Amino acid sequence: MFKKILIANRGEIALRIQRACKELGVRGVIVYSEADREAKYVKLAEEAVCIGPAPSAQSYLNMPAIISAAEVTDAEAIHPGYGFLSENADFAERVEKSGFKFIGPTPESIRMMGDKVSAKQAMIKAGVPCVPGSDGELPDNPAEMKRIAKSIGYPVIIKAAGGGGGRGMRVVNTEAALIHAVQTTKAEAGAAFGNPAVYMEKFLQNPRHIEIQILADQFKNAVYLGERDCSMQRRHQKVIEEAPAPGIPRKLIEKVGERCVAACKRIGYRGAGTFEFLYENGEFYFIEMNTRVQVEHPVTEFITGIDIVKTQIQVAAGEKLPFTQKQIVFKGHAIECRINAEDPFKFTPSPGRITMWHAAGGPGVRVDSHAYTNYFVPPNYDSMIGKLIVYGDTREQALARMRTALSESVVEGIQTNIALHREIMSDAKFITGGTNIHYLEEWLSNHKR
Ligand code: ADP
Repeated sequence: MFKKILIANRGEIALRIQRACKELGVRGVIVYSEADREAKYVKLAEEAVCIGPAPSAQSYLNMPAIISAAEVTDAEAIHPGYGFLSENADFAERVEKSGFKFIGPTPESIRMMGDKVSAKQAMIKAGVPCVPGSDGELPDNPAEMKRIAKSIGYPVIIKAAGGGGGRGMRVVNTEAALIHAVQTTKAEAGAAFGNPAVYMEKFLQNPRHIEIQILADQFKNAVYLGERDCSMQRRHQKVIEEAPAPGIPRKLIEKVGERCVAACKRIGYRGAGTFEFLYENGEFYFIEMNTRVQVEHPVTEFITGIDIVKTQIQVAAGEKLPFTQKQIVFKGHAIECRINAEDPFKFTPSPGRITMWHAAGGPGVRVDSHAYTNYFVPPNYDSMIGKLIVYGDTREQALARMRTALSESVVEGIQTNIALHREIMSDAKFITGGTNIHYLEEWLSNHKR
């Protein structure tokens, strides 16, 4: 096992990784920007290094500063968390070239999955079900584009190979709009991602977002930890996640899970990863893979009893996966609400000083947050300040616990979306389960205030 790990992230995930390090008896080095200097997790860290001013480009995205911090503290490995540099193949490469272990997959795996065209081709080869679409990158010839769209059937969606964060996509309903849409998406993709390549997919009308968590070691052992339903989204951003996904046959999850495991073995994937799918009319369609730990990993930890972050560190240190697929037991139901510093219905960011923070507690309640009374939420980063996760033997019990936990949660001084979560938890359709990816936005437009 490593003696020391540098945590190249901030906020709740930096604290989460620090906790995993402590459990493993590993020293965790926290890096921070000037905006995070006063945060409690920074002050309480065994070691902490300032890597630059508040803007991410000069701190949490500053590769030389992070690598120097690892050098001066004698860390052996770097955990990138999520966001920032976590899916940057060049960073992973520089980390390893500088003599540190990158806690994640190889740069080659990150690169392959970061390009959605090559990711999809790899998945098709491995037998993972994908959205019907163009065979790789879309050719430049307009007649060819029209032929492909016709064979897929309208509506289609044009997607940038290098896209991410819900950007670089355009839906096309008719042939008349096709060529212009492709050209615009190509131009935007070139400017935003430095790669003008686009591809085409069938546009699914009312899918759910279902994803499969996997863990793999360097000896080609891999397991799936079941699925998460992340269909409650606003502007392609997840708001509520749960596991298992209501109403999906276990046999189908097992089949898709096994395909994901086979794909991992085939590409020599190591570490934690997530296969994201759209699910419609009883079918799974792969859309992309995330090559890192995800915000919503705690719901899977609750229903499997497996510590995903600890396992990431163990396999990066060269250990074998400590469990086999047969030993993984799925039990109960877990739900996560992301707590954001924002207006609960208008969504304008609400950074500033928290004058009162009271976290919920009790059986089956977990709060992952770096916030506390008197914590200042800096305006420079993502608005998520924590996650409230509950567990119950059944979905019904998990919902009841979430309602209680939300009623106990108090945050004053800034606005948060706790009020929105309270309303969703008593919404009849959400309680039934199985809402699609448009449901939250439709609900919000019907609850204008
Ligand atoms: P990103 O990397 O930008 O998050 P994804 O490929 O994961 O891009 O897609 C983001 C979201 O866009 C999906 O969750 C879904 O809401 C929508 N989307 C993507 N592809 C399709 C499709 N073929 N049909 C319908 N919706 C899609």
